[in-house]
Amino acid sequence: MTRDSQRPPAGGDFERCRVSEPISGFSTRAIHEGCGYRDQTGAVTPPIYATSTFEYGNEGGFDYTRSGNPNFRNLEATLRSLEHAAHATVFSSGVAAITAVVSSLKSGDLVLAEENVYGCTFRLFDRVFKKFGVTVEYLDFSQVSQFEQIRVKKPRLVWLESPTNPLLKVIDIRRAAEICRTIGSTLLVDNTFASGYVQQPLALGADLSLSSTTKYINGHSDCLGGVVCTNSEEWAENMVFAQKALGLNPSPFDSWLISRGVKTLALRMQQHQRNAQALAEWLEALPGIGWVRYPGLPSHPDHELAKRQMRNGGSGIVVADFGLTLEKTRDLLQGLRYFKLAESLGGVESLVCHPATMTHASVPREVREQVGITDAVVRFSVGVEEIGDLLEDLQDGFRRVGCYARSYQLT
Ligand SMILES: *Cc1c(COP(=O)(O)O)cnc(C)c1O
Repeated sequence: MTRDSQRPPAGGDFERCRVSEPISGFSTRAIHEGCGYRDQTGAVTPPIYATSTFEYGNEGGFDYTRSGNPNFRNLEATLRSLEHAAHATVFSSGVAAITAVVSSLKSGDLVLAEENVYGCTFRLFDRVFKKFGVTVEYLDFSQVSQFEQIRVKKPRLVWLESPTNPLLKVIDIRRAAEICRTIGSTLLVDNTFASGYVQQPLALGADLSLSSTTKYINGHSDCLGGVVCTNSEEWAENMVFAQKALGLNPSPFDSWLISRGVKTLALRMQQHQRNAQALAEWLEALPGIGWVRYPGLPSHPDHELAKRQMRNGGSGIVVADFGLTLEKTRDLLQGLRYFKLAESLGGVESLVCHPATMTHASVPREVREQVGITDAVVRFSVGVEEIGDLLEDLQDGFRRVGCYARSYQLT
């Protein structure tokens, strides 16, 4: 499809189900936007358009699913509405969305990136795009003094992630955006750890808001997806081009699953936040614990910024250092009942991850420990279960490995 896939075409019955912006609330938009293509059947939920190709000259302007499908358009309509963006383009994964953005650069371009970026983002920069002449320099953007480097180096693109993985540094998006605007650099924020319910990068001044929809947006750990939201016509064209030219499109079925998942994003995030805050406070009160990090805790170094930038000050990720040996840490994590030891995050079920041996295993030990990811660090993706059950699960685990005896009386 050569036409702008962002524009609701005839036949999409988008207008009928469109809710009035900006009056309607987040949940209303999550449920009512993006319900086009119900095909005059009265179906409340649009069907899955499992088709590779479309008959020539159709009203919707579709030709081949790599470059557009009704399920992509529905999901794009929902996601752009949730971030108050003019455009959203969906991809097969978060990594595909990252590929779409970086492949729009050219040889010789400089990217200034947060040093704590997601591991696969680092690997793409280092192992793939470097070969094509895209240079990336890393900075600690939680240090406000580092922002001056943007003015000095005038990069084509500034790549932030906030909160970061796994240490949950919070970065001042508005401040970065102000500097980027004065020198004409594009600011991208990877919003995966927060989701649009918690944080709105475009409203804070970013040019591109990227998410792995695999995580909170879908929320059910049953498929992968990615999205880039923007108000820039030029970047939107780049994204639509990458979707079809690089083959980064999602499947209609996965798009449909994510359309279903996102309807409950606000409800889920509220429960993730309540549970994460409760878990973080409970852990922090354990005598002898190394440290606990959650943006909603007053002890978090960026707590004030998190309160300004993120609704309710956090999402569902909590990180802690239990001060245990590698063996005891793994023992503790492998024996938990509700917290499954697994990579990924943002689903309704609680997961726990050991960054040093899992997500960050490929990072050399000295580099890892320098940034604070020791063998004792544990990352929780707190799900939406009953908080009492989650705390009991951990308490049983502590008893099993013989630590934090005082926690046994806590529930
Ligand atoms: C998971 C994740 C990605 C990559 O997304 P996939 O859907 O796994 O490809 C990118 N950024 C962050 C912050 C992530 O957590």
